[in-house]
Amino acid sequence: MKTNRKQLEIQLSRLRPFVFPKNYLEQYPTESSIAASLVWEAYQDGNIYNKNILDAGSGTGVLAYAALYLGCNFLTAVEIDIDQKEILESNLKEFQNKEIIIGNISEFQGRCDTVLCNPPFGAVKKNNDLPFLERIFEFGKYLYIIHNAVNDQFMTKFISERGELIRKNRIEMNLPRMYKHHTREQKNVELLAYVVRSY
Ligand code: SAH
Repeated sequence: MKTNRKQLEIQLSRLRPFVFPKNYLEQYPTESSIAASLVWEAYQDGNIYNKNILDAGSGTGVLAYAALYLGCNFLTAVEIDIDQKEILESNLKEFQNKEIIIGNISEFQGRCDTVLCNPPFGAVKKNNDLPFLERIFEFGKYLYIIHNAVNDQFMTKFISERGELIRKNRIEMNLPRMYKHHTREQKNVELLAYVVRSY
């Protein structure tokens, strides 16, 4: 396929944003440049093209779109918030090889090759990340997980008990002002992207 990371980023920047974003679900969109880098890297690892992919906690589908754009075989997007269903459908409408499931990741059953996951970090509601972290190792062989860098110690231990850490990349992300408690126009947060092979 003739494309590149920059082209992917441009595509992602055109997607529709969250409607009625909900703080308690920690709905934060992954910036286009970061989503493009993460999924491009997964593509270069051989974990996207022709593979079955799960986007766990898909939000508006930015990671899902990237996987579909880069030629995955089938994409499953799981998102708990019904308010995002229409946006997800609209953002992914050009692709047929997908399924959108509105439901709790804790109740999802399925197998795939690769999991893409930018979950809630558990910053608003403690342990909100656990339903994701506990399940995604069952779903797929290769996992691309974004998490808050302040949780690195916990994540490193959690991953080491369930799989092999292949890579860890530091990411700076701009959080836009989205919720009432945000006082600044935007805030820089330090995140980590973990690439894991599950046991
Ligand atoms: N993956 C998207 C959204 C990240 S925000 C992106 O990268 O832009 C985390 C998403 O997880 C939100 O859309 C939130 O609604 C969803 N979510 C939170 N708890 C969930 C659960 N238990 N099951 C499924 N989705 C959940």
